[in-house]
Amino acid sequence: MSPSAADDALHALGFDAFRAGQREAIETLLESGRALLVAPTGGGKSLCYQVPALMLPGTTIVISPLVALMADQVAALQQRGVAATYLAATLPAETMQQRLAALWRGEYRIVYVAPERLAAAGFRERIKQLDCPLIAVDEAHCISEWGHDFRPEYMQIGEIVRELAPPHVLACTATATPVVRDEIVHRLDMGPETAQLVHGFARPNLALRAAEVGGQRDRQQQVDAALAEALGRPGDGRGVAIVYTPTRKLAETEAGRLAGQGWRTRAYHAGLPAEDRQIAQEDFMAGRLDAVCATNAFGMGIDRSDVRAVVHFGPPGSIEAYYQEVGRAGRDGDPAIGLLCWAQSDLPQRRRLLERDGEADSEIVAHKWNLFLELIRWAEGGACRHDAILRYFGDEAETLAGCGRCDVCTTIDAGGSDEDATLLARKLLSGVARIHGRFGMKMAVKLLRGEQEERLERQGLTRVSTFGLLAERSEAWITRALGRCVTAGWIVFSGDQHPVLRLSPDGDAVMRGRQSARWLPPGEAGAPSRSASGSRRRATPSADDPALDAAAQSAFDALRAARLDIAQREGVPAYVVAHDRTLREIARLRPDSLAAMEAVPGLGPAKIARYGEALLDALADA
Ligand code: ADP
Ligand code: ZN
Repeated sequence: MSPSAADDALHALGFDAFRAGQREAIETLLESGRALLVAPTGGGKSLCYQVPALMLPGTTIVISPLVALMADQVAALQQRGVAATYLAATLPAETMQQRLAALWRGEYRIVYVAPERLAAAGFRERIKQLDCPLIAVDEAHCISEWGHDFRPEYMQIGEIVRELAPPHVLACTATATPVVRDEIVHRLDMGPETAQLVHGFARPNLALRAAEVGGQRDRQQQVDAALAEALGRPGDGRGVAIVYTPTRKLAETEAGRLAGQGWRTRAYHAGLPAEDRQIAQEDFMAGRLDAVCATNAFGMGIDRSDVRAVVHFGPPGSIEAYYQEVGRAGRDGDPAIGLLCWAQSDLPQRRRLLERDGEADSEIVAHKWNLFLELIRWAEGGACRHDAILRYFGDEAETLAGCGRCDVCTTIDAGGSDEDATLLARKLLSGVARIHGRFGMKMAVKLLRGEQEERLERQGLTRVSTFGLLAERSEAWITRALGRCVTAGWIVFSGDQHPVLRLSPDGDAVMRGRQSARWLPPGEAGAPSRSASGSRRRATPSADDPALDAAAQSAFDALRAARLDIAQREGVPAYVVAHDRTLREIARLRPDSLAAMEAVPGLGPAKIARYGEALLDALADA
């Protein structure tokens, strides 16, 4: 494209310069005809169809579900002298007729259309005769059944695109889940080779942290520490914090608890009367609060730039949901804290929630469960949290090779783990290199542990030098460590049904010693790597040893005794049978069958088959 034509259009719209990514998006769209643009809300996506609309002859159609937003944009365009209008069901019939007549006469450069308009048969027929160089689909994730915002009207858009076959199609979304993106491309018939441009997700001023906690008290301590660090003391006036809680009840109890410490707080959730919610929002916006304790109902349309901390009492459903919520911190660009508290017990709880919510479709349950596990894997950490999120979103260009602010970076920079992290990574990755697209995670663990396994033997993999390279490590440790290598971007999965492992180019470079490994290997014995309180590394004994109530404690003791029996009988160390942590989980969850044991984190099918009965017996006797 001629740079000057794009610049002219930019200036006509009243802007001086493109933001990062905008020119590239416009060039890609004009050259290849199809593009998917993924950028956060406020990232400047609309310019990427407005500029081409001014450059191309004919009437550009913009499909958008948000009438208020359409009206604003049209008003701004008209002010700049651009012939623009919008069509939505909220218009009086007469206005609609006038606008349609002008549209068919070709008087507009840009027309915004609400998706339900597209369903009107007359409109669908007539629009085929419009000279339309570009269809832009805003909020394109509404087309995805996997997304949280699915709108049936959006399903029509694919057909319209096929019927009109415009030379250019641009889909825009702030939703970054890879599955959703692929679905957008597919449903809009854009072709699998369509460029997906991901931009603007980096938030380097956020100090991202995750803390694995034991119980409620632990979570509260984390909240208190984060508030103290970010806001100082009540009355210091250093900005505001948001505490997200998983339930409405917790929002209220936390608000009460913090108020007891002198913080000015309010609870916010969808169960409160509209009036109370209104007051909470106004107090928050007007700076009359130090903290809001809220469910995820809080945040839409909230625009305060000096949120200094966003603390999650428990994990939300996905990396995406988390990033959107934590992204409300530090909009002014000054340092801010994002802290996610999570516990192993959050896993079975989420699983139950997903199943109880009666998602009839087990495929959707599985999908949502995987999104949640991605978040937990991120929380388990090991690699720069900032970079790991950007890699998840596919925003590679903005990764920093270590942000220097997150808990992982600060720990590494303070001397990291006691082990030679690079050497460990090289060992792990050389095992994966042998697996090379043939097997998944489990086999990689067996290979590195040096376990006799027929499938490995058949491939000659029991005779390679990496076989048993990490024999002294536990299965759980190697599994965790490999998970961290995934988060670090060194190992990638491929294949849908049975995902197999491969090294990424970065992983290959680390394995060959051409690149040092910036990561934290997990601690042994399955202990959480650390509690995250910034650079103040504080051992939280409770994180490793969450308080059990009396009944659970006696169950735990019985399980330990049973484990000792098994270990002696089989001549293996106790932790090979099960970690303390796993036994605690069993004590807490009290599974009553082998099947129920599958909900216990850390107990794979193999262990359940081998030791399940004995552990259940011990539990029954306790
Ligand atoms: P999105 O659609 O990605 O949510 P918008 O397109 O509404 O974001 O843009 C957000 C804001 O940024 C708008 O106020 C817009 O005018 C402004 N903006 C976008 N691009 C530029 C630019 N190149 N220079 C200055 N302001 C811009
Ligand atoms: Zn970092």
